[in-house]
Parts: sequence; structure tokens; C-alpha cells
Amino acid sequence: MLAKRGTRQWEDWETLAAEAVTFTQQLIQIPSPNNGDPDIGGTEDTVIDFIRNKLSEVGLTGEYVAAREGRGNYKVTIPGRNPHALLIHSHVDVVPADAEQWRHPPFGGVIEDGYIWGRGAVDMKDFGGMMLAVARHYALTERTPERTLVFAWLSDEENDGKWGSQWLVQNKPEWFDGIELALSEGGGFSITIPEHDKRFYPLAVGEKGVSWLKLTAQGRAGHGSRPAGVNAVTVLSRAVAAIASTEFPIVHTPPLDALLDTIRTVTGETITDDNVEALSKKWGFWEPIVKASIRNTAAPTQLKAGYMVNVIPEEATATIDCRVLPGQEKSFREDIENLLEKEFGSEWTEYLSLDWTAPNAYSVDPDHPFVESIRRVVEQQDPDGVVTPYLLPAGTDNKHLQHLGIKCFGFVPLKLPADFDCFGLFHAVDERVPVAAVEFGSRVLAEIADSA
Ligand SMILES: [Zn+2]
Repeated sequence: MLAKRGTRQWEDWETLAAEAVTFTQQLIQIPSPNNGDPDIGGTEDTVIDFIRNKLSEVGLTGEYVAAREGRGNYKVTIPGRNPHALLIHSHVDVVPADAEQWRHPPFGGVIEDGYIWGRGAVDMKDFGGMMLAVARHYALTERTPERTLVFAWLSDEENDGKWGSQWLVQNKPEWFDGIELALSEGGGFSITIPEHDKRFYPLAVGEKGVSWLKLTAQGRAGHGSRPAGVNAVTVLSRAVAAIASTEFPIVHTPPLDALLDTIRTVTGETITDDNVEALSKKWGFWEPIVKASIRNTAAPTQLKAGYMVNVIPEEATATIDCRVLPGQEKSFREDIENLLEKEFGSEWTEYLSLDWTAPNAYSVDPDHPFVESIRRVVEQQDPDGVVTPYLLPAGTDNKHLQHLGIKCFGFVPLKLPADFDCFGLFHAVDERVPVAAVEFGSRVLAEIADSA
């Protein structure tokens, strides 16, 4: 069925909102769980096929590319007056769901009590549905956006984009030619601070990086009955304990300062390094986000040593999951080295070696003009809304796209009730999204796209 172009008014927000809600339901109804197995191929393409059909109904055709069979990526371009494009993207996979624990079937997409229920409701078939509705809205209204818009639906985000964004960036960077800005998940869900009327809309202008540290201790092998010299197990234990018991200092990244400034303006509080964590307890759903974004962290997760109870091993290893703030890669490594030196003296490198994976933290200027343009749209649609830049203490597809020099932002506009913990519902049982929030988001997304 081909819907006729030019048959809809740009201001017909009701029809746009209704489509966004229906598409969100329909996308949830196509299960696309990702368990990290590269050969799960098929379910993501079923989602892509649905999107393709809905776009071709209104005469929009795009480009499909897949790293592996059944694990496709699809983009459609709407040319604007300014060729430096805005990429609006979402992932089509979701994390698995155990139906027995759910109040409503995880792939049912039912509407009940004002919510759309199901896996992907907030992560992120809601945005996938809004995007689809907005792309069709452009076609049906025959509207030319200010900036060229590229809508893209990608696979495998839940497995770090290995066969999705990461693969595209490394193997098909030309797919993103001409793109200057990117908008995706990682923010936009409103957070209300108790006893204050303002609704904060966090806008991710950066992400914390992941860096895995492998710590290897070397000692003298021997019989367990005759301990002599340096024991690798002992050295490793001391090193792990020293790292794990350290609280790294608060670091003022530009996104953090932008957030604290906004909170200060609304609450009138005097926020310092000494009181920020205590104060954050009063900031509702902001608390865990603030705590995770003020410092680097290092959590030991794996230990390996020895094969017999009576043999002292020559080597012992540990892995430490480090989460590193943007711009902190070098100084964080120095912090770790300094604390090992403090523990073992300057000869620590004789027993211990460190092997790091490169972190991929990034940040964009919180005063970027796109921030202002999002702020203008949101505050017009929600007079009690305050858009604030912040740092997402997690990772999205944007982590890979920023390597191409694209300025990346996380903002899925959702106007939410004060007691709705959206961030807490990511990957959780009973994932759901208010219908009204998706309706709100569809219009806000259309206006952001139109004024970027
Ligand atoms: Zn996601």
C-alpha cells in the first residue's frame, strides 16, 4: 500500500504520535534478543524488514548493509538544505527476557495502565518507533528539513556493536560520510528532583570509557612446603587489595560541571566536592548517575593462579574492570602505577606488569549549538523542563561513531512521571514506557530534527 505524499500537515502531531505508539508496540512484538552469539542472525533483520516496509509504504527507500547474515543495518536519508547531516540512530536488538518473571509478556507490546509493556520499551524500540514515525512524517508532509537527516537502525548494540556500529565504523566508514552530528540513546528521560517542580532532561554529551586492566604478578615457583622468595599469589593479592580499597578523586569533567550547575540553579544548593555525594541522596534518580560520573572506578572481577595446592605458581593474574572518565586515560593509569609504587616500592615493576585495553570515553562541548537547539525545543514543549548536559556512565553505539569525528549526543525525549525510574528499567524485568511519553517524544524528536 502506498500512502500518498503531501497528504498530511506538518502540525498533525496527533497522527504522528499515534504512529509512534503503534510502531513501538509492533517493534516490541518482533523479538530480537541478543545473547552475544554472533550467529543469532535473523531476528534483527525481521525488525529491519518491518521498518523497511513501513518506509517504502511512503516512498522512502534506503540502504541495507550487514556484517553477518541476518544482522543488518538500514539507513534512509532525507535531504535538507544543509548537507552536514544529523544522524538519528537506534539499535534493533534487545537483551533477552525471562517471560516467567514478567507481569505482561515481554514480547507482547501490550498497552495497560497507560504503559507500553515489553523488552525494548525504553531500550530502545521506543526511539526506533519514534524515528520511524518521524521519517514517514517527513515523507507524508513533503517537508524539507533544515539539515539533511539520516535515520539509521543498527544491529548488535547490546554486544558492543561488534557486528553493528563497531563493524560499520571499522569496515564501512563511508556509510557515515557527510554526517556531522548524531543523536541516539543515553539520555532524554526526565528526572524530577523531589520537592522541586522542574523536570530535568539529561542530555548525554559524553560517555565514560571501559578499560580492562590485566595485572600479572611474577614470583618464584616452588614446593608449597618450602616457601622462598617472592610469591606471585601474595604479590597479586596485595596489588588487588590496594587498587580495590582506593577511592579515586572526584574529577571535574565539563559534562559533570554542566550538570552540577543546572542542579545548583534549580535547588539553590551549594555543591562542593565534599558534600556532592551526600547531597545527591536528595536528588532522586540522579543519585546513582551522579555517583558513577564523578570519578574513575576500578573493580576487580577475575583472579587466576596455581593448579595444585602444594605448588607455588610462578604467575598469578587478575583482571580489573576500570571505568574511566573522558580525558582521564593517562592520569588514571598514573594513579594506578603510583599506588602500586606506594605499596611495593619503586621496584614494583620487577614483580608486576600491567596490560590495558584502550578506553573509549568521549565528550562533546556541553555548549555545542545542538545542545541549545534541543533545549529550545524541549523547553517549549515542557515549560517545566530543564535540559542539562551530563555524562552517561555507560556505553552506546555513539562510542564507536565518535571515532569518525561525529559529534554524538544521547537524547530520547520522554516526559515521565516523577516516580518513574527510566534508567533503572534498562535491561530490567517489566520494562515499560508511558504511552504519553512516547507521544511527547515523537513531536519533540520531529522538532529537534527539523531545527538541528
Ligand atoms: Zn540501548
